[in-house]
Amino acid sequence: MQCFNHHDHAAVATCKACHKGVCPDCARENEAGISCDNDACANGAEQTATVMRMSAQAIARRSSWRSPSVLGGMLAGICITAMGGFLMIGGDKAGGPLIALMGIGLIGMAMSMKFRRSR
Ligand SMILES: [Zn+2]
Ligand SMILES: [Zn+2]
Repeated sequence: MQCFNHHDHAAVATCKACHKGVCPDCARENEAGISCDNDACANGAEQTATVMRMSAQAIARRSSWRSPSVLGGMLAGICITAMGGFLMIGGDKAGGPLIALMGIGLIGMAMSMKFRRSR
């Protein structure tokens, strides 16, 4: 893959927000990971990381908290699905559907947790 900005440079990473290839000159690294060197993508990567953390926490809480964790998992799933949809509307043909699928998977997981418990 080539850098999105420099077509003669090889990409070393993919932006976490827009999924374009970035070379070392164009990449910005923050605690959320690698993104393009612009604020929109840096914020996008930060938001992605926050949603991931939230859903991971919702799953981790499953054993100690009962129904709120199902609700939390479903809410996180809906958030992730909405974000994927948003990315798709924004023209992200690769990352959007992937994130939407992850969200749907999370909703399914939360639903199956609910059904298992009601038995
Ligand atoms: Zn980007
Ligand atoms: Zn570049």
